[in-house]
Amino acid sequence: MSQFVQDLEKKLKGSVLAEEPLRKHTTIRIGGPAEVLIIPADQQDVVDAVRIAAEYGKQVTIIGNGSNLLVSDNGIPGLVVKLVGGMTTWKLQGNSLVAESGCLLPALIFHTIDAGFSGLEFAAGIPASLGGALVMNAGANGGEIGSLVEEVQACNAAGEVVHFSQGACRFGYRQSVFQSEQWIILAARINLQAGDKAASLARVKQLLGKRKQIQPLDLPNAGSIFRNPIGGVAGKLIDEAGCKGLKAGGAMISNKHANFIVNVENATAADVLELIERVKTMVMAKHGIELHPEVRMLGFSRG
Ligand SMILES: Cc1cc2nc3c(=O)[nH]c(=O)nc-3n(C[C@H](O)[C@H](O)[C@H](O)COP(=O)(O)OP(=O)(O)OC[C@H]3O[C@@H](n4cnc5c(N)ncnc54)[C@H](O)[C@@H]3O)c2cc1C
Repeated sequence: MSQFVQDLEKKLKGSVLAEEPLRKHTTIRIGGPAEVLIIPADQQDVVDAVRIAAEYGKQVTIIGNGSNLLVSDNGIPGLVVKLVGGMTTWKLQGNSLVAESGCLLPALIFHTIDAGFSGLEFAAGIPASLGGALVMNAGANGGEIGSLVEEVQACNAAGEVVHFSQGACRFGYRQSVFQSEQWIILAARINLQAGDKAASLARVKQLLGKRKQIQPLDLPNAGSIFRNPIGGVAGKLIDEAGCKGLKAGGAMISNKHANFIVNVENATAADVLELIERVKTMVMAKHGIELHPEVRMLGFSRG
């Protein structure tokens, strides 16, 4: 075992896993090994881990619930910090939810509804961690997580903790400042309002039912592969370009939802990349529109 891994094990309270297959940590079940993956027990573990990585000159990569990731078949060198599994504390303060970034959004939706609050229902069925949702400004059904943010707490590669106001997060369509600058989101304060529990639960049930009808939830996937272009819907453009059912190795463009790539049988990241390129070419030929991936690629160069 390397000295780097030994130092992490000595210092951290959370899990330290050397050569951990990342396919176990992505919803599409693809990805080679992390040199070392940690699941921090608390915020101090995150700060300690990034400081140790800096001492060894190791690259740091953050993952949440792995639901918007395509990880290289070669894996990711250096330190991979997985926030889900460890940092999951949350509390309600007045009308605000204060939660750590490893909390899962589906759980937060039910906890807050149960406590008589409304606000997160729009996100029913998004399998995100709070941190990943904030990075991506996850949204659906007319709502976006960024619009509810009061404050985000994050640390940089030196382990310094900074507080971001909503404006400083620079939220846009599936965009935030956390994509262009390397911050590790530790926690956030989310604004909610008093709600009607029965009405909120009914809304969640309806949204989950709708997803089941239109999304291929029975096969591993990473959600929408492409961002919607301005004024268009990626899934519709891909469908019209005749891409449904296209296959590369074990990956396939879903027959149910054209913007989903499903892992039918032991697909590799190379298979998915091949499909992404073929779809881009076919949509360009049919519509003259360039599609851009929404899914985040990690481990291909510097991620
Ligand atoms: C079935 C399905 C349905 C989906 N539906 C939707 C939908 O309706 N709307 C939508 O917006 N998305 C949807 N998604 C995509 C995905 O769930 C979102 O993009 C989500 O926000 C990703 O969260 P995550 O925790 O899984 O992040 P990951 O996929 O693990 O990471 C996403 C990005 O965030 C970074 N990151 C994660 N956590 C942190 C952190 N704490 N600090 C710093 N960086 C971090 C990663 O480095 C990566 O760049 C869907 C996905 C699936 C599989």
